[in-house]
Parts: sequence; C-alpha cells; structure tokens
Amino acid sequence: MIVEQIWTANAYRNFNYLIACAETGEALAIDPLDHKKCLATAKAKGWRITQILNTHEHSDHTGGNAAMVAATEAKVLAHANAKDKIAGMDRGLKAGDVIKIGKTAELEALDTPGHTMSHVCLLAHADRPALFCGDTLFNAGAGNCYNGGQPEALYETFVNQLARLPDSTRVYPGHEYLARNLEFTLDREPGNADAEGLLGEARHHDPAAAVVTTLAQEKRINTFLRLQNPTVIARLRQAFPDIGEAPDARTVFVRLRELRNRW
Ligand SMILES: [Zn+2]
Ligand SMILES: [Zn+2]
Repeated sequence: MIVEQIWTANAYRNFNYLIACAETGEALAIDPLDHKKCLATAKAKGWRITQILNTHEHSDHTGGNAAMVAATEAKVLAHANAKDKIAGMDRGLKAGDVIKIGKTAELEALDTPGHTMSHVCLLAHADRPALFCGDTLFNAGAGNCYNGGQPEALYETFVNQLARLPDSTRVYPGHEYLARNLEFTLDREPGNADAEGLLGEARHHDPAAAVVTTLAQEKRINTFLRLQNPTVIARLRQAFPDIGEAPDARTVFVRLRELRNRW
C-alpha cells in the first residue's frame, strides 16, 4: 500500500490523500478537494483513480467529487447515513466494511461520529497500521462539533475506538493544524516537553512534507487523549470550577472541546 499525502495549500489547510496498490496502480482518493493536484499526482505516478472516499459530508471534503468523477468515473464512497448529503454516492459504508484498492491495498471503515454524525475513519492494517481520520482526530487536536456534530459522541469515538488502536498507527488527518493545536496543548498543560519539542519543528515545517505522528506520540501531545492528566484537570477546574476535584473523562473531554471552540 502506498500513501501519498497531498497538501492543498488552501485557507482551510486541507490534506487530501491518494492510496494506491503498488501492483495494479489502482488508487483511491480521500476527500480530493484539490482534484487538480490529486489528478496530477496520480498521473505522475502512473496511477488510475477508481474510487473517491469522503470521510464526511462537509464541502471542504466533498467539493472535488464532481470534477474527479468527470475525469475518472471513480465511484464515490462515504458513510451510509451521508447518502442524502453527498451527491452521487455509489456506496454507503458501515462499521467493519472493507474497501479494496487493486490487489494489495485494503481499508477498514470505522464508524466515528462526533465531528458530524456520518463520519468514517479508514484504517489500513498494513505492516505499520495507518488511520485516515478526516476531521475526527487531528495531529495534537480534535475536530470541532459545531456543524452537525456532538462532543459526547466524539468523546466515545476517541475513547472506545481511536485510543484503542495500536500505538504504532500513523495518523493522517484531514487538515494541517499542528502548531496551533500544540499551542492549545501547552496552554492546557504548560511544560509538556513532547509538545514543546514538536512545536519548534511544527512552526517552521513545510506542510507539503508534513510531520506524520503515531498514536503513541498523540497520546503524549494531544490534550484530548490526556484526559486523566492531573495538570490538564487542575487547569480545567480554573475555567470550570463546577467540575469538582475528580471529573470523569467524558466531562474533561467535553469541557476541553468547549474551551478550544473559543480559544
Ligand atoms: Zn468537517
Ligand atoms: Zn474539514
């Protein structure tokens, strides 16, 4: 399985992805908003895009579908419940569905509500697992919930699904927000050495050659995966005294999400 991360350089800082079978050259495009860049990359690599996969229904993820279908006749896949929200959907996905790409690449659909209620993440069980997580999990952050999402559902997705994946899982999000998210982590947990170390790099890195984190690393730098951390809880109590001395993880997550909305 070959993964190509495509930096769109747009205002929303979207990442698009191509996943290709090394044997047949068939490729799947994830959220190909910048259809021109995706098509040019596929052409340069000698790949044929046969499927488009939308992680969710927002237009910064689906906006390239029509042009991509016109150019390639690729099939459009997304969460089954997105069928009335995404034009021209060919296949509705449920948890556990397998998406084959050529002969050698395969993705498993995870049903991951929270950012929206019809959001899928894709898990590749390669030698090193990879997670394509749309607007659910970002590098050092979590998706917002104010365009059709629910923070409690996002919490469940984080705790019951994403945090349980292998630590070696590489994280491929739908947007590049690394530096800003690390700044939030450090605002919530001053002195987090891992976040400080990566922030210096993140402020200067070229998103076209972005840092790819692992889930193990996310557990060190992502506040939304550090819900039991005493500093995170103590700092949160300063903002929300009503949470008490021993808030449960769900409360910590939801209040962190609320703080991040206005941070
Ligand atoms: Zn979105
Ligand atoms: Zn987005």
